[in-house]
Amino acid sequence: MACSACLVDNAPAARYCRECGSALTGEAHEASSSSVGVWSDRPRRCEECHATIAAGARFCTQCGVSAVTDQSPSNGWLIGAVISVAAAVVTFSTLVVQFYGK
Ligand SMILES: [Zn+2]
Ligand SMILES: [Zn+2]
Repeated sequence: MACSACLVDNAPAARYCRECGSALTGEAHEASSSSVGVWSDRPRRCEECHATIAAGARFCTQCGVSAVTDQSPSNGWLIGAVISVAAAVVTFSTLVVQFYGK
């Protein structure tokens, strides 16, 4: 079932979009959800309703809660450090070029 908000294709038994979390309306009949094969490699379990969440899903397709849990602050620190080092390297190389350019 395609989401009406973001047009992402969801599983037939999904009640909420796995990408944007909006409710999937339109189909009244409950489709038989035996086709688990459409979900990719490693599904997770929802902490709210204990439903299975697909590997690439951002929201639980049964209760609509956000499934994004891997927000470690160390990543932001690492990216900031890399940017700082890159800026320092650029500044240093600019100084070297100015020094040897004369
Ligand atoms: Zn959506
Ligand atoms: Zn859930």
